[in-house]
Amino acid sequence: MPENVVIIGSGPAGWAAAIYTARANLNPLVIEGDPTNDLNRQQGTTPLGQLNLTTEVENYPGFPAGNLCQFLDTALPADVRSVLPEHSCHGVSGPELMELMRQQAKNFGARVVSKDVVKIDLRRHPFRMTAANRDFKEIVSGTSEEIEAATVIIATGARANYLGLPSEDKYKNRGVSACAVCDGALPMFRNKPLIVIGGGDSAVEEATYLTKYASQVYMVVRRNELRASKIMQKRALENPKITMKWNRALDEVIGTENDGVTAARLKSTVDAAAEELPVAGVFLAIGHTPNTDFLKGQVKTHPNGYIVWTTPQRTYTSVPGVFAAGDVADSYYKQAVTAAGTGCMAALDAERWLADQGHH
Ligand code: NDP
Repeated sequence: MPENVVIIGSGPAGWAAAIYTARANLNPLVIEGDPTNDLNRQQGTTPLGQLNLTTEVENYPGFPAGNLCQFLDTALPADVRSVLPEHSCHGVSGPELMELMRQQAKNFGARVVSKDVVKIDLRRHPFRMTAANRDFKEIVSGTSEEIEAATVIIATGARANYLGLPSEDKYKNRGVSACAVCDGALPMFRNKPLIVIGGGDSAVEEATYLTKYASQVYMVVRRNELRASKIMQKRALENPKITMKWNRALDEVIGTENDGVTAARLKSTVDAAAEELPVAGVFLAIGHTPNTDFLKGQVKTHPNGYIVWTTPQRTYTSVPGVFAAGDVADSYYKQAVTAAGTGCMAALDAERWLADQGHH
């Protein structure tokens, strides 16, 4: 028997879809991604999505500032609670929020596979996919899972972009990163000057976080203003450890084999000026790319790669029975709460689609 609903992805959209489909007795299967895969770590596609790579979450409704420790102690199993990154319990952190969502889905019976989808066939129904640890060169019997599904909810989110400079690639994991929260506390960055590229909310969040460890953080912004929200702008501009580098772009990352990153060359975006800043780390925060590669074009996407919702107010994709939720289909709002909202919508859409087919 095919699965009723397979949910691919484990950010807020995936878990909201899992909670709703589980409560509708659809016995959902969540393929959450492989936590041990190095590629996932490098490109920021590890399970629990992008929120799991952030610190405080101040704008997710329902979690005002306040001591959350006792709730976390009771809501999460001890083995999960004990490995969560240290946090003040003052409000909720991204990893805490994601573990709470995952637990909530599991409490209602959602089953979870900690693997990546390495192959999917949406051209025939029931849909077919293979879940495996992505490191495996070949899918060997016993290491992969063949799954058939009547409906699929794609909730694979988006990942951070890089500029594509050869020097940036050369020093990835040796001073170049797109995740301050993952890497900022590393000894190589302690009490050293760092730069953050970008001027959006992510860039401000990363820069602010890095001031905890760095001697100085430069924000390299290609225009003469930030894209970030007003409250975040204020936070960056008032932080004495953050220096703005307006109208600048990263030209080259400079380093050595032994020391990793030692400097960054910046160029002006308005004239021919250039400068070299001695820094130990370069953090990218310049937007995102949706995680749709594994679909190999089987679902219609916009020119920017995000999945097309084919019907207004619905999470339908170009393939009947396949729904999309969260950032993978949303290049506009990109918020945790909107992702969770569309995850709920996808669950209800899948439930109704199954009912219309006489399936459930
Ligand atoms: P954004 O698209 O909002 O910002 C991207 C930034 O990177 C912009 O400043 C952009 O410059 C710059 N940029 C893009 N490409 C390049 C390039 N090639 N070279 C140099 N700079 C470049 O992305 P974010 O990831 O910051 O935010 C995504 C969404 O998530 C937003 O909706 C944001 O509000 C939300 N978010 C909210 C947070 C919160 O509320 N706490 C935290 C983090 C994100 P330009 O402005 O010139 O285009």
